[in-house]
Amino acid sequence: MNMNFEFVRRLALPAEIKEMCPLSKEAENIVEAKKAALEAVFSGKSDKIVLIIGPCSADNEDSVIDYIKRLVPVQEKVKDKIIIVPRIYTNKPRTTGDGYKGMLHQPNPNEKSDLFKGIIATRHLHMRAVEETGFACADEMLYPENYQYLDDLLVYVAVGARSVEDQQHRLTASGICAPVGMKNPTSGDYGVMLNAILAAQHPHAFIYRGWEVKSTGNPYAHAILRGYTNKHGESNPNYHYEDLVRLLNMYSSKKLMNPAVIIDTNHANSGKDPFEQPRIINDVINSMRHNDEVRKLVKGFMVESYIEDGSQAVNGGVYGKSITDPCLGWEKSEQLIMDLFEKL
Ligand code: PEP
Ligand code: MN
Repeated sequence: MNMNFEFVRRLALPAEIKEMCPLSKEAENIVEAKKAALEAVFSGKSDKIVLIIGPCSADNEDSVIDYIKRLVPVQEKVKDKIIIVPRIYTNKPRTTGDGYKGMLHQPNPNEKSDLFKGIIATRHLHMRAVEETGFACADEMLYPENYQYLDDLLVYVAVGARSVEDQQHRLTASGICAPVGMKNPTSGDYGVMLNAILAAQHPHAFIYRGWEVKSTGNPYAHAILRGYTNKHGESNPNYHYEDLVRLLNMYSSKKLMNPAVIIDTNHANSGKDPFEQPRIINDVINSMRHNDEVRKLVKGFMVESYIEDGSQAVNGGVYGKSITDPCLGWEKSEQLIMDLFEKL
């Protein structure tokens, strides 16, 4: 025996899944229009702010769609200044590998894993979002080989703090036709994040899903600052003015296209206290007002938000309450968006 894998079943190819769950022409147009709007921001043609907002994990189809529906009238109110991209995070990285790994693994968090059902469930959820709310959404690319199951739906892709140093993530990002945010690693090293951006902005030849492929490079690969953990295991922020100026300087010393950063207001930036998120946005807005170069660099925010405040155990059973990182509840989130709008 060479590997102690059990090959459970052969899974459908992305093209077969897309045939089973095809996107309507209308939905396709929504995705294309949103991608164009985001590209205008990341290329500097538009000075709108991108707000990637939603639960840490998309654990339940009904509550996630309910949440995204609430964003519809808010988006209408703020559309002159803010582009909202809901987070539908269907894959969760786990620090030790244990725990709920997201909808892809467990379409029902209280049942055991079923990855075929998971592929269908994640595609179905992203499709429902576009068709029922008009929002094309963001997801994390945790497993690059799965990206093609959703490549016609996602308008924003994040590479997480635990994946950003990985070659296959960087090379796959170089072939994605949407902005890809590279998070700083959990250690906080900006060099790792900027190298990931450099790699993703260039063409590559590599192996992808059993094919030899060539990518053209993604000019919209950019930074996401999410705070970091020091050697004592303590959370430290990296959204302050000095952090942004340091990133600006490092960006200009490398040959990178379209310098840009999204500030993740939760994770190690808030020390996972979701109620800190509105304050962190205000702090960044002050930095943007203080320095025009910082204003141009900061393209937006990533906020963890859901229907209920906080978090619960996986089997907690409260509708719309996170089963992974603690989130800001709906009323406070709506207030956060309206306050951001007023300040821009
Ligand atoms: C997340 O966005 O929920 C997440 C897991 O982020 P990070 O990779 O920054 O920990
Ligand atoms: Mn999270």
